[in-house]
Amino acid sequence: MKRISIEQITNAIEGTFINKESLTEKYIHRVIIDSREVQKNDLYIPIIGERFDGHDFIKEAISAGALCVFSVSIDHVPVGFPAIIVKDTKKALGHLAAFYRQQFTIPFIGITGSVGKTSTKEMLASILETKFKVHKTDGNYNNDIGLPLSILSLEPDAEVAVIELGMNHFGEIDYLANILKPEIGMITNIGVSHIEFLGSQEGILKAKTEMLPHIQDEGLIILNGDDPYLKPLKLQYGRRVKTYGYTQGNDCCVVNYQVLDQGRQKMTVATDRGIYSMTVNYPGEHILLNALGGVLIGEYLGIEKENIIKGILQYEPAKMRLNEYKIGDRLRIIDDAYNASVDSMNGALKTLSVLKEATERSVAILGSMFEMGSYSKKGHEQVGHQVIKSKPDVCILIGKEAKWTYDVIKRFEPEAIKSHYYECVEDFLVSLEKHIMDHDIVLLKASRGMAFEKIREALIRKF
Ligand code: ATP
Ligand code: MG
Repeated sequence: MKRISIEQITNAIEGTFINKESLTEKYIHRVIIDSREVQKNDLYIPIIGERFDGHDFIKEAISAGALCVFSVSIDHVPVGFPAIIVKDTKKALGHLAAFYRQQFTIPFIGITGSVGKTSTKEMLASILETKFKVHKTDGNYNNDIGLPLSILSLEPDAEVAVIELGMNHFGEIDYLANILKPEIGMITNIGVSHIEFLGSQEGILKAKTEMLPHIQDEGLIILNGDDPYLKPLKLQYGRRVKTYGYTQGNDCCVVNYQVLDQGRQKMTVATDRGIYSMTVNYPGEHILLNALGGVLIGEYLGIEKENIIKGILQYEPAKMRLNEYKIGDRLRIIDDAYNASVDSMNGALKTLSVLKEATERSVAILGSMFEMGSYSKKGHEQVGHQVIKSKPDVCILIGKEAKWTYDVIKRFEPEAIKSHYYECVEDFLVSLEKHIMDHDIVLLKASRGMAFEKIREALIRKF
């Protein structure tokens, strides 16, 4: 990180500095919240979590070389050790990140939306890396701890930052965007993820658009113009908005696309500046959509056409997002079990049908989707209709909520799709061999909490 002194940190946050005289160095090395990662001269910020209280590890952090620590009380700090006493360590981390962000004049790009944030971040970073030194959110660090840490790990020579903003509740995007103050803000879509806490899709729209007032005045707003909830924002925000999508009328729209061998895809898109003909080396129609916002942002930041095309070609998906595993020539697994929502289920099921070769049997193993509250039944039933439309040969449903999906398939398509239901992953694993055969292509898709990686591991062991 850029050099920042303890003095600057004290000014940036609300806190009381104690034992200042025992400081051995003026500048901190890094900001760390996990005591096991602390190195010499790091600032250790203890976070109070559901299971652990970081204050219990202050001593470990100090023995590992911490220069200074934050703490909610003097009682947690060994006598004489330099510390900043704050009311709330998580908030103080946020204030510190907001201060650190202000030390940079580079473009900050914020990405939010119901699904596809991480995938879009990877796609965008791949485009921007053809010209700039890019800093991006590490993994899925998109909440009130992850986003500040993502910002605080910015290296001084970064030329652009791509940051993901996630949320479950109202006010969270507002909090994160206020730290980030993006020059460019992108919203991927308004789906039904986290509807449990937000009541309705209108509620989700309201929560996601909390980012917009924080975008710099001269900045750019990039929206998925095919999304019925996002499209009207173009009128509201005028020229600052650029949209992308499959439909004509978007500032970046798909003119045509085709699936090549092994799920690779080719598409032609048009913008004001020209026609792009490009290839994405991975499957999923929805993945193409994630590239379109990247084209507009690439143009805005002055990246040449050939480099935008090259960046998209070089894109690699993050882990457990439509990752393909080939087990010899006997089995193919499409692992999309990072998380699940009605929207991403649809994308995954379509992808399975596109990837299936004539000699293969397609097996969709779908699990429950969580955090859907009173929408849960409807959402799981919608997935049932998606399954019927995409027609896998076999569909296995796992988890309490997934029973709703199973019931729809059984009721409307009892013959053409062989469907089976299991209450939990363990029950299914006992019968795994009964269902999965040589030359199957298997899709794994469920909420993270269903731990579908156990199925992937079992398949890899067995085949
Ligand atoms: P989270 O809220 O967990 O951070 P996210 O918004 O970052 O999720 P990703 O991790 O990129 O989303 O993808 C989640 C799932 O959605 C994956 O299964 C991925 O393949 C799928 N996905 C990616 N992009 C889209 C899209 N544009 N539309 C629908 N599904 C998508
Ligand atoms: Mg994510």
